[in-house]
Amino acid sequence: MRYLFLIFALCLSFAPVFAAPELRVATREIAPFVVPQGSQLSGFSIDLWNAIAAELKVQTRFSIKKNVGELLAAVKNGQADASVAAISVTAKRAREVDFSQPIYDSGLQILVRGKASTPSLWDGLMQLLRSPIMVQFVIAVALLILIPAHLLWFIERHSNDGIIRHDTYFPGIFEAVWWTVSCLATQAEEMPKTVWARILAVIWMFFAVIFIAYVTAALTANLTMQSLRGDIHGPDDLPGKNVATVAGSTSAEYLGERKIRAQSFASADEAIGALEKGEVAAVVYDSPILLYYAANKGQGNVAVVGAVFRRESYAIAFPNGSRWRKSVNFALLSLRENGVYDQIREKWFGSEGD
Ligand code: GLU
Repeated sequence: MRYLFLIFALCLSFAPVFAAPELRVATREIAPFVVPQGSQLSGFSIDLWNAIAAELKVQTRFSIKKNVGELLAAVKNGQADASVAAISVTAKRAREVDFSQPIYDSGLQILVRGKASTPSLWDGLMQLLRSPIMVQFVIAVALLILIPAHLLWFIERHSNDGIIRHDTYFPGIFEAVWWTVSCLATQAEEMPKTVWARILAVIWMFFAVIFIAYVTAALTANLTMQSLRGDIHGPDDLPGKNVATVAGSTSAEYLGERKIRAQSFASADEAIGALEKGEVAAVVYDSPILLYYAANKGQGNVAVVGAVFRRESYAIAFPNGSRWRKSVNFALLSLRENGVYDQIREKWFGSEGD
């Protein structure tokens, strides 16, 4: 009986050794890879990790980080045993941390506002009325009408049967203004009588043609510019545009390398928020994340344009020399072979794709 007790006590003291080990896994919210669901986490990367953990018979304790930099730092400084989210493998990162086999093929793409790139007639007119060029146009027209009208009135006011029939300022000036306006808009029917007024009229009519041509061109360009807000089709259209991206991401690095002016936000949601508010012309970020947003929350407001222009793979990051990497890779391979990987992929991305 005493021995039985001893064996029981021994078993109890070894219990923690036999319990499933717990891995500290750093992650960050990034739909559809990591999606908070109540107090739990879900998403493609989380479901995949949970399947790996089940294969390895380990427990997981997740910790939430703010950006990809923190995820990499967590494994680098030993704070976490692994980082799982939408972490792209790059040569620079691979020098500092270890990576698993790829878990998802990704790349960079561009998100822009709206689908409709041609505004309706009414929207176009409204945009035009509110545009700064309209104010300049009104001032220019006022000056261009009033100055020649006064000159004409002054020269022509005493001529008999000229176009100014009254030699007093009022209503004589109205007749002069009528003439300059009709000259500007179409062609005046009458010609002034005095030589100087005729010279003025010829110069003015010539000038009016150029002015109308210039205004038409400026307004057309302005309207076209407004309707081509979505005129970004690929990375070549990005220089000179206001672009948003996510801090610390491979996209931020890509834009920096190409000297494309970009604002960095803490999350994809914030960067896309800036796009929806019209603060930026495009968001450059991970293709699957942009596509997911455009198909869900952003439906009808935003659209992904152009092809994927920098291919990347997502993987799980480990501290250098981690003893877990090899077994995680084995688990990943068997999940691909037994169809679990495809099930998880289909759950989050549907059946399209490879
Ligand atoms: N996949 C990108 C990267 O690894 C973005 C990740 C993120 O913002 O969490 O840089």
